[in-house]
Amino acid sequence: MELNDITKNIKAVSDKYAKNCGINRDKDWHLLKIQEELGELTQQHLKLSGRGRASKTPEEHRKLLEEEVADVFAHVLLYAHNNDINIEKAVKDKWFTWLEK
Ligand SMILES: [Mg+2]
Repeated sequence: MELNDITKNIKAVSDKYAKNCGINRDKDWHLLKIQEELGELTQQHLKLSGRGRASKTPEEHRKLLEEEVADVFAHVLLYAHNNDINIEKAVKDKWFTWLEK
């Protein structure tokens, strides 16, 4: 699946979530959600690495960690989409030029 298709599907889920929960996703909402999800990812990372209170099995925490990575990734894509950022071009320009040096 291409990144554009992934973004389109994530946006559809986000649209449904916002409608069902009555959330107004204004300009900085996506940035705030990245921060929230990064906190949740950090929490799972700490639990999985024995530096947080683990309440589940390591396998369950690993699954939750993977889900939080997906949440961060999804909100980064939504943030880019809502700010007219071509994330593929941005990654190529910022990261891949180092392959040519
Ligand atoms: Mg989350």
